[in-house]
Amino acid sequence: MRHSLTSEQAKFKAEVEDFLATTLPSEISTRIKLGAGISKDDLGAWTKQLNQKGWAAPNWPEEYGGTGWNLMQRHIFDVACRQAHAPVLSGFGFNMVGPAIIEYGTEAQKQDFLPRIRNADLWFCQGYSEPQAGSDLASVRTRADRDGDDYVVNGQKIWTSGAEDADWIFCLVRTNHDVQQRLGDEDRGWTVAKSLLGDERLLVSRVAENKRIFSIIKETVALQRARGIDVPVSVLQEIDELEVRLSALEMTSLRILTQADAGSQIGAEPSMLKLKGSELVQAQDDVLFRIVDHLVMPLDSKNSNRTAIEPSFAEYVASGRYHHRGFTIAGGSSEVQHNIIAKQVLGL
Ligand SMILES: Cc1cc2nc3c(=O)[nH]c(=O)nc-3n(C[C@H](O)[C@H](O)[C@H](O)COP(=O)(O)OP(=O)(O)OC[C@H]3O[C@@H](n4cnc5c(N)ncnc54)[C@H](O)[C@@H]3O)c2cc1C
Repeated sequence: MRHSLTSEQAKFKAEVEDFLATTLPSEISTRIKLGAGISKDDLGAWTKQLNQKGWAAPNWPEEYGGTGWNLMQRHIFDVACRQAHAPVLSGFGFNMVGPAIIEYGTEAQKQDFLPRIRNADLWFCQGYSEPQAGSDLASVRTRADRDGDDYVVNGQKIWTSGAEDADWIFCLVRTNHDVQQRLGDEDRGWTVAKSLLGDERLLVSRVAENKRIFSIIKETVALQRARGIDVPVSVLQEIDELEVRLSALEMTSLRILTQADAGSQIGAEPSMLKLKGSELVQAQDDVLFRIVDHLVMPLDSKNSNRTAIEPSFAEYVASGRYHHRGFTIAGGSSEVQHNIIAKQVLGL
């Protein structure tokens, strides 16, 4: 099956690629490609640049600074950004709490929070997981009790990604009272919480990231050959298999996005994409690692005179491989996605 872009979509893709080519600083894209990470300041500066262009929050309604793009356009934008090794904006503000504020917040909350999130002047992290509540979020025990105009929050949150850079945390807590900065109606917190998880799962299908890693695999094979190093036939066969899996993931994703753009209800599809997308990232990491592992090994050496390794992103391959192990856990583990698919699709 092939999916070709319409002329309008191709024009839009060219416009995004042109913007990235002229605006994204090469020192930033190089750092991303090498897996070196970028500072909060650099990520903030890139967010501001996208905001200036009006492209920071593609999934928000236009009245709150969104782009008005449909899902296919957002997919095209995502893929172009990842292929250019552009930084990924903080999902907590743009894809989780931002849309929840738009859906459930008061007008005052919208005016207060949304412009600051869009311009990277306000950074959020997510406080859902607790020691006894990860997959089973209904077990959260952290409480928020009213104390005058404030909440007093007692409990423990764990796995709070990006907490070190955040100004605010959005939390899943138990409340009994009517107080300020509660999102949505009292006793409706679970609905808000689940809506955020839905957004998170849509995000983690990782088609764009998988395409980026596949390009790096191809580039690495070419570099190895140029250096006179053979890549074993068995590995080349695995690369072919990865390409088939990537095509299947992309086609399925495009089919779902096209259907959603046409107004179809989305059910368990995000779970399927999350499952397959995160597993494919890890499978690609494994293959990439085997192509370059002999280059990475010297990094373990105690030899202080070691020379720089080539290709220059070989070091990233090792660190990326371990970092990506969390992809099949964060945002709902693979087992939990299997449960959702079994219930909603197979009716088990
Ligand atoms: C890199 C990373 C970043 C994260 N960032 C955040 C964050 O920013 N904020 C936040 O709130 N949380 C975050 N998390 C937490 C993440 O959401 C939880 O780790 C995840 O939901 C699983 O919960 P748990 O770790 O408590 O494992 P548990 O729920 O205890 O599960 C343990 C094992 O049992 C399996 N299991 C559990 N229930 C079932 C079931 N019903 N059927 C079959 N198998 C089951 C699981 O798949 C898993 O293998 C992050 C996690 C990771 C790895």
